[in-house]
Amino acid sequence: MRIPISDVTPECGRAEIAGWVHEVRDLGGLTFLLIRDRTGIIQVTIVKKKAPAEVLEAVKAVSRESVVRVAGTVKAIDKAPGGRELNPETFAIVSVAESPLPLDVVEKVPADLDTRLDARFLDVRKPRVAAVFKVRSTVTSATYDFLSQRGFFNIATPKVVAAATEGGTELFPIAYFEKEAFLNQSPQLYKQMMMAAGFEKVFEVGPIFRAEEHNTVRHLNEATSIDVEVSFADHNDVMVLLEDLVRHLYAAVDERCSDAIADLGVEFEVPKTPFPRLPYAEAIEIAAARIDEPIAYGDDLGTVSEKAIGEEMGEHYFITDWPTEIKPYYAMPYEDDPAICKAFDMMHPRMELSSGAQRVHQHDLLVEQIAAKGLNPDGFEFYLKPFRYGMPPHAGWGMGMERLIMTMLGLQNIREAVLFPRDRHRVVP
Ligand code: ATP
Ligand code: MG
Repeated sequence: MRIPISDVTPECGRAEIAGWVHEVRDLGGLTFLLIRDRTGIIQVTIVKKKAPAEVLEAVKAVSRESVVRVAGTVKAIDKAPGGRELNPETFAIVSVAESPLPLDVVEKVPADLDTRLDARFLDVRKPRVAAVFKVRSTVTSATYDFLSQRGFFNIATPKVVAAATEGGTELFPIAYFEKEAFLNQSPQLYKQMMMAAGFEKVFEVGPIFRAEEHNTVRHLNEATSIDVEVSFADHNDVMVLLEDLVRHLYAAVDERCSDAIADLGVEFEVPKTPFPRLPYAEAIEIAAARIDEPIAYGDDLGTVSEKAIGEEMGEHYFITDWPTEIKPYYAMPYEDDPAICKAFDMMHPRMELSSGAQRVHQHDLLVEQIAAKGLNPDGFEFYLKPFRYGMPPHAGWGMGMERLIMTMLGLQNIREAVLFPRDRHRVVP
C-alpha cells in the first residue's frame, strides 16, 4: 500500500510510494532519482548491477515530472533528504510528462510571475509555492474554527446582485436574463440584513469582485474576504475580535505549518495584541511629516502614506476616527462629533488588511447618509426595509484573505497568494 513520502523511515523496512520525478541524476553505475509528493521528497537509488531489468528499463525511460509508483527497501543514508533512501524492487511509470516542461519545477531557471501563472499547476508543484497554499488552507480552517467557537453562524450571501454596495464604478455587470445584475463587490448589505434577521453573529469567507482597472501588487479583481457582522456590538468590540482573530491565525500557522514556513524561509512572529489605535488625524500628521506629496486632513490614505505610517508604527495597528465624508454611508458618525465616524482600518505596516465600523442602524439617518453620498436611496429599498422592522445596533468588518497571507508570508505580489488570480489581463487559466 502506498504511504506518504514523509512517513517513509528506515524503520519501515519496505515501503511503496507514488509521486512526481523531481530530479534524475545518472552517474553511470548509479542513478539517483528524487521523488516528490505533497508531503516531501525521497531519494530513490538504483545500482545498475543489482537492480531488476524492468526497473532499469523504466528508469531509463522516465522523464522529469512524470508520475511514478515505486516499491522497495528503505535504507538509512545520512546524505539523502530525510536521512533515508529507497532501493526499488518495482518501478512503474503511471503517467508520462512531456519534455520539455513549460516550467522548471526545481527552479534552476527562475521564471517570471506570468510564466509561472500560465503553468500554475506545475508552479504549485514547487514545495515553496505549495507552502503558500498549505498556509492559506490552515488560515481558512482556523478562521472557521475560531468564529464557530465564538458562536458565529456561517452564512452564504449571493454573489449575483442588483445593486452596488457603495455605488461607484467598481462593479462587473453580468448578463442576467432581461435584468441588470452585477457580481457583488462585498457581502456588506446582506450580512447587515442578517442582523435584522436576529442571527446576532455571522461570518462569511467568500469571493468579492472589484472591477478596479488599475493593476497593482495588492489588488485583484476577484479576491476572498473574511466578513463578520455582530449585533449589539460597537466598533471597539469588533476591533478586539479582529485583532484576536489575526493573532489566532498567526498562532495556528506557527503551530501547524512549521514545514511550510521553513520551505518559505520567512521570519515568522505571532503579532502582539492589542494593536495600537491611531486616530486618523494623527495618522495624517505622521504621513505629512514623512512624505513629499502634499497631504491634508480629509484626504484618503494612498499607498505612499500607508507605507510611511506603517514604517513609523512598525507593527499591526488600527486607524480609527475617520472623517465621515471619506467613509461609506453605513459607518456610524459619533453622536458628539458627526464629522468623524466609528470606522476603522486595520493595517499591516505594508498595507491595509481590513476595514470595519459600527454601522448606522437608524433607518432615517441611513437614508440621509446614502443621499449625502450622492446615491439614490430608492435603489437600496431591499436593504433599507429591514431597518424599519427592528434592526439592532451592530458592527463588523471585512478582511482580505490574500492580503493577510501576503503580509504574513512576506510575498511581494498578491497574485502569489491566489491559485488562479484574476486581474486586468488574466482570466486564463
Ligand atoms: P484599498 O483602498 O486598499 O484598495 P479598499 O478600502 O477599497 O482597499 P475595502 O472595500 O475596505 O477595500 O475592503 C475590505 C478589505 O478587502 C480590504 O482591506 C482588503 O484587504 C480587501 N480588498 C478589497 N479590495 C480588494 C482587491 N481589489 N484585491 C484584494 N483585496 C481587496
Ligand atoms: Mg478599506
